[in-house]
Amino acid sequence: MDKLYHTLIVGGGAAGLIAAARLADRYGGEIAVAERGERLGRKLSLSGNGQGNLTNSDVSPAHYRSGEKAFPAVALKEFPFESAERFYRTLGIFLTREAGKKYPLSKQASAVTDALRCALEREKVVTKTGFCALKAEKQRGVFTVTAEDGRRLSAKHLILAFGGKAAKHLGTDGTSYALAEGFGHRITAVYPALVQLTTQTEPIRGLKGIKAEATVFAEGRYRAESRGEVLFTDYGVSGSAIFSVSGAVSGGGRIEIGFLPEVSEQELIKMLKARAALGLPLAGGIVHNQLARVLEKQARGEIGKLASLIKKFSLPVTGSLGFDAAQVSAGGVDVRDIDARTMESKLVRGLYFAGEAMDVDGDCGGYNLHWAYASASAAAAHLLQNGETANGKTGEEDGA
Ligand SMILES: Cc1cc2nc3c(=O)[nH]c(=O)nc-3n(C[C@H](O)[C@H](O)[C@H](O)COP(=O)(O)OP(=O)(O)OC[C@H]3O[C@@H](n4cnc5c(N)ncnc54)[C@H](O)[C@@H]3O)c2cc1C
Repeated sequence: MDKLYHTLIVGGGAAGLIAAARLADRYGGEIAVAERGERLGRKLSLSGNGQGNLTNSDVSPAHYRSGEKAFPAVALKEFPFESAERFYRTLGIFLTREAGKKYPLSKQASAVTDALRCALEREKVVTKTGFCALKAEKQRGVFTVTAEDGRRLSAKHLILAFGGKAAKHLGTDGTSYALAEGFGHRITAVYPALVQLTTQTEPIRGLKGIKAEATVFAEGRYRAESRGEVLFTDYGVSGSAIFSVSGAVSGGGRIEIGFLPEVSEQELIKMLKARAALGLPLAGGIVHNQLARVLEKQARGEIGKLASLIKKFSLPVTGSLGFDAAQVSAGGVDVRDIDARTMESKLVRGLYFAGEAMDVDGDCGGYNLHWAYASASAAAAHLLQNGETANGKTGEEDGA
């Protein structure tokens, strides 16, 4: 007979590895992680341009979106930034000191993957790589997951941590939502987020390569706002401020870029008039020269129009570079069918979800890896509270 694990985790990404590490202390070899790729934690190792922006000192629910607005707040409250910092410290990973985005001190994401892998090895957690889960079912209290190649794994509990649909070269192509659907779970519309936007190119001709600190308002599926870097490209716009609002308009819409957020329009008009009186180019010296030239051409010498273009440069968005370029996918397993406190399915007892698989996505800045951490920790905490071993005995009965 196949070994019956206490918990089987499908997906050896950030959420799956964190859930396994949380459970490993108590359950060790009774935990199995099934990962379709040949290596664990590939996306985690590449995150943050290889630096691993793991979390943020300001992890408030305002940085997250979900079909159920209140859903992420529950786990975020139970597992805030401080708890993530403590957890990573137990793995031997210490976070950078500056407020805001938090990285491992070495600024090497692979160090975090190595620490998680080491924690699993130490506690003899079973890891199966090259195991692409195709089918999952529950019969007589036992979950059985079958891989593409026919291998099977069975467990009393199942955590689905298969990620979303972004970056398919890292194992996440969206096909695994079918595993949740097999249990009757609904999947909401899935779309690319934290992604470069394609826009009409005529208004930005001549701006390729120009970077600006700006505010960005976006109007599409919903309204979003951000402040940070905007980078003009030959297809449209990129940069941290664009990434943060991209989920709202990756299906099309409109963005408005404010190039001088700290200067009011009235003040700006005065500055432009003063430069005109001195015989200087109007906007050059106030914004980047190349940007000034493009905006001046569009304003046709009208100071009022130029000021308004600098304050609110409106750009129609045609779409995005798609899931392959996106850092996350928004949408996923509908959270109305999941308990926000425990991440347990409301439809199937013993079935849990963790990470990006669910309809929760966060801003750019460590929020998505924090969600992987908080949701995986919530699922693991509930399993630890239950205190059962694979044979159904409680930890106390077992002397564990
Ligand atoms: C290039 C890049 C950089 C990023 N940088 C950051 C950052 O700095 N900070 C941040 O907060 N977020 C970042 N993100 C987003 C963040 O990495 C993800 O939100 C996070 O990894 C999600 O964790 P997860 O475990 O839910 O999913 P994933 O990390 O995607 O892991 C899911 C795993 O499940 C496996 N899998 C899928 N289907 C199956 C199946 N059927 N059977 C077995 N295994 C399966 C996949 O191979 C994958 O390994 C980045 C994303 C990308 C693509």
